[in-house]
Amino acid sequence: MEMTSAVKGRRCGTCTLCCKLLTIPQFGNPSGQWCPHCVKGRGCALYPDWPNECRSFYCGYLLWSELGEHWRPSRSKMVVAFKPDGMEIIIHVDPGVPNAWRAEPYYTEIRSMAGQAAETAYTIFVQIGRRIIVVFPDREVDLGVVAEDERVSIQEEAGPGTRKRALKVKANDPRIV
Ligand code: SF4
Ligand code: SF4
Repeated sequence: MEMTSAVKGRRCGTCTLCCKLLTIPQFGNPSGQWCPHCVKGRGCALYPDWPNECRSFYCGYLLWSELGEHWRPSRSKMVVAFKPDGMEIIIHVDPGVPNAWRAEPYYTEIRSMAGQAAETAYTIFVQIGRRIIVVFPDREVDLGVVAEDERVSIQEEAGPGTRKRALKVKANDPRIV
């Protein structure tokens, strides 16, 4: 891949991990399976006529200087991304290394992200294939596999404070805001 990096000195290089961990709807590759157009370790076979959604994608490693060099996706086996339609940071984990996010220093940094997110409207998700774990500052909620007709709903708990809870609900559930 070729793109301009927002953090000086960071480029995709031979990394292609987002071509495995992110779903490209027009190619139908589920999260965790390589896009059929990816030449692993080299780049996109469609380049320079690759899809706009790929062209415009910048992972967290390219964008955030707060993420250290160890977050390079080809090394960490994780791709950090914003969900474009919500206040969500999703840490996509390679299903071939499903516990990569629990290794240090990543786990401590992910918990720190959750603490910072609690002061904003953001929520931290860890996604391994279709399995989703919501990371709150005080706990993790493993929702298991979230089916295509299901969604994750984040809600404020009743009572004092701002404790949140995560639910797996059907896509047409009115609790989804
Ligand atoms: S995961 Fe990030 S660094 Fe790797 S190819 Fe995708 S955008 Fe580039
Ligand atoms: S079309 Fe190219 S850039 Fe997009 S996911 Fe497939 S291999 Fe990657």
